[in-house]
Amino acid sequence: MKIAVISGKGGTGKTYFSTSLAMSLEEADFFDLDVEEPNGYIFIKPVISDEVQYILPVPEIDEDRCTFCNKCAESCAYNALSILPQLQKALFFPELCHSCGVCSFVCPVDEALIEVDKDIGVIRRGKFSRGNFIEGKLNIGEPSGVPLISGIMKDHLNTERTVIIDSPPGTSCPVVESIKKADYVIIVTEPTPFGLSDMKLVIEIVKDLGKRTGVVINKDRGDSKDTEEFLRKCGIPVIFRIPYSLEIQKSYSKGIPLIDTVPGIGKKLKRLYEDISNG
Ligand code: SF4
Ligand code: SF4
Repeated sequence: MKIAVISGKGGTGKTYFSTSLAMSLEEADFFDLDVEEPNGYIFIKPVISDEVQYILPVPEIDEDRCTFCNKCAESCAYNALSILPQLQKALFFPELCHSCGVCSFVCPVDEALIEVDKDIGVIRRGKFSRGNFIEGKLNIGEPSGVPLISGIMKDHLNTERTVIIDSPPGTSCPVVESIKKADYVIIVTEPTPFGLSDMKLVIEIVKDLGKRTGVVINKDRGDSKDTEEFLRKCGIPVIFRIPYSLEIQKSYSKGIPLIDTVPGIGKKLKRLYEDISNG
């Protein structure tokens, strides 16, 4: 099973839940794909064995060789290039580039457009008590985590193993990228009007992708009537509840995992995983 844990916004307890879910299993890999601010390591406490920069090829145009024929810009599906023949200028917008390589393929002039390396982030690999730990961290200022997330999923996902994925928060493209290969998506929410509003947005994404889904209610005080009512209408089950408790909040702020805070919760999480696996 590949299980992705998502939330409509940050701070709902997504990482707190996903780390303990991974730690409740006998064997599992943990992927921290919350690439703008990965913090699963705080609870998982992995031993990191290697760290590699994640490099993408991007075009670089030599204006002395370029004939300003515009073929590269015409072929770029993402409008990342603009050729200005009158000014003898070639503009490149790196934040729009998807490193597809089409521009270098179509350029008819030798060495006018070459591909150069662009460092967009780092991938850390290691081990934790249950298996492999993989974390992606995007460089500050990088416009999108999608290439880093798709690179990690392509190069490091072992389809034979159970994988718990801590996805980015929100509803943007990196979230979609992180759940594409998941068999099941867990949405972590809080029983507040904001929590409900953000949960509605992520449910739309999960529905569009046709994923099996369940919801975890964090900070549950028995006042989640609106959330439950909405979920009932959507046919999405509440699969787990984390109670509202001062002890849990204190433990969380010290980096102590949920599984080491609430007695017996590890067994419940393991049972939850088995229920999900058995469909
Ligand atoms: S690599 Fe692809 S996306 Fe980037 S500028 Fe070239 S054609 Fe456009
Ligand atoms: S295709 Fe090559 S020669 Fe033509 S504008 Fe682009 S970089 Fe210049």
